[in-house]
Amino acid sequence: MKRLQKLSETDNEVFGLIQSELERQEDGLEMIPSENFASRAVMEAEGSVFTNKYSEGYPGKRYYGGNEFVDKVENLAIERAKKAFGVPRANVQPYSGTPANFAVYLATCQPGDVIMGQALPDGGHLTHGWKTSFSGIFYKAVQYHVKADGYIDFEEARKLALEHKPKLIWVGASAYVRQFPFKEMAEIADEVGAYLVADVAHISGLIIGGAHQSPSQYVHIITTTTHKTLRGPRGAIIMVTEKGLKKDPELADRIDKAVFPGLQGGPHDQTTAAIAVALGEALQPDFKGYANQIVANSKALAAGLMKNGLKLVSNGTENHLMLVDLTTIAKGHGVFAQEALEAAGITVNKNTIPLDPSSPFYPSGIRLGTPAITTRGMKEPEMEKIAKWIAEVVNETKKYKLPAEKSEIGEYIRKFKEELKANANVKKVRSEVKELCSRFPLYKVDMNGTS
Ligand SMILES: *Cc1c(COP(=O)(O)O)cnc(C)c1O
Repeated sequence: MKRLQKLSETDNEVFGLIQSELERQEDGLEMIPSENFASRAVMEAEGSVFTNKYSEGYPGKRYYGGNEFVDKVENLAIERAKKAFGVPRANVQPYSGTPANFAVYLATCQPGDVIMGQALPDGGHLTHGWKTSFSGIFYKAVQYHVKADGYIDFEEARKLALEHKPKLIWVGASAYVRQFPFKEMAEIADEVGAYLVADVAHISGLIIGGAHQSPSQYVHIITTTTHKTLRGPRGAIIMVTEKGLKKDPELADRIDKAVFPGLQGGPHDQTTAAIAVALGEALQPDFKGYANQIVANSKALAAGLMKNGLKLVSNGTENHLMLVDLTTIAKGHGVFAQEALEAAGITVNKNTIPLDPSSPFYPSGIRLGTPAITTRGMKEPEMEKIAKWIAEVVNETKKYKLPAEKSEIGEYIRKFKEELKANANVKKVRSEVKELCSRFPLYKVDMNGTS
C-alpha cells in the first residue's frame, strides 16, 4: 500500500498539508541545528498501534491490563539507552525535553530552592532557569554566562555557586559551539555539593557516535531529547549515572516517581517504541560515521562561512552548530538573515550571540547546523557551496536596518520580505539549492539509517 493512502482517501485537507510539508523538507536545506530527519523505521513505529494503549506505571507495575508488549518495548528502549550512554538507570517516558527537565527538578528540589544554569541569551535553555519558564518561576535561578570568546566563564560560575549554594546545576545548552565542560562543571558542583545534570539534548547523537565525550562519569543525571542529533521521534530520556546513585541511592526511583505520577499520565507507547528503534539505529557501527561527519561538515561549513567574510562566535565550532555574528552588519540583524535565507530555501533561526547588543526577539545572530543535511548524505564539497550561498544571501540584506522605533518594525520587515521575492540573487540561490537537494533525496528513496 502507498504511504498515507488511507489519509489521502479520508482527509484531503490534512493529507495535502503533509504533502506540502514533505516537499518543503525535500526541496530545501534544513539547517536548524535542533532538527533532523527520522528514518522511515522510526516513523513507522511512531505511527503504530501502540498509540492505542494506556499503560500508566512502569514495566511490570502498570495500572492497566494488556501491557505485555508495551512492557517489552519499554524495557527494550531502557536497555538500549543504558547501553548507549553507559548508565545504570534510564527513564524513557518523558513527553519531550522540557517535561524531562521539569521531572528532574521535581525529583531533586523543593519550590524556592536555588538552581543554576547557563543564561538563555548565552545559549542556555529556557528550562535551565530563564525567568519566563517554570524553572525561573518556581525556583530561585542563578545564571552563568559565556565570555566574549564564546567559552563558558568558569570563574563566574564558580563564584556564583559558592555564593548562592545551588541545589542543582545544569551543564548543557542549545546554542553553544564548544565541547561542554563536564569535568570543570563537576568540580564546581562537587565543591558545593550540588546535583550536576548534563542536558545533552543537542549532542546526544554525537555522544553515542563517539564524536563527543560522554558526561556519564562526571554528572549525576543526564537528560536528552531524542529528536535532535539522536534522530528519533519527539521525546526524551532521563538517565541516572553510577555517580548519581552513589550520591543518592534513591535518585533514580525519585525520578521515576517525578515523571509518573508526579508530572505525566500515560506514557506515549508509540513514541517509546520509536525511541527503541532510534537507539537501535544509533548503536549500529555506521552511526559513528554519521556522528563524525556531522562535526566534519560543521567545521567545513564554519571555515567556508569565515572564508566568505562572515564572522562566527568563538571563531568556529567543535560540534554540529555555529553562530553567525551579524553585528558586523548591524545589531538586531538576525531577522533579515533568517528571512532572506528562508526565501533562498535555507532554513536557519535567528539567535542571540554572547553579549548581544539587541533583544532576544530581535537578536544579532543566526544559528545553523549540519545534523539534517548530513542525514541526507551531504559532505564537505556541499558545505563549501552552501557556505558561499549563505554569504551571498546575507550580503543581499546589508542595506536593511531594524527601525529604532518599535512600532515601525512590522511594516519594515513586511516590505523587506516583498523586496526579497523580487531579488534576482536570492532567486538564483533558491534554484541552486533546489538542484542540490534533488541530488540528495530524502524520503523519495528509501532512507535507511545513515543514508
Ligand atoms: C531542545 C532542548 C530542550 C527541550 O526540548 P523540547 O523537546 O523542545 O521540550 C531542553 N534542553 C535543551 C538544551 C535543548 O536544546
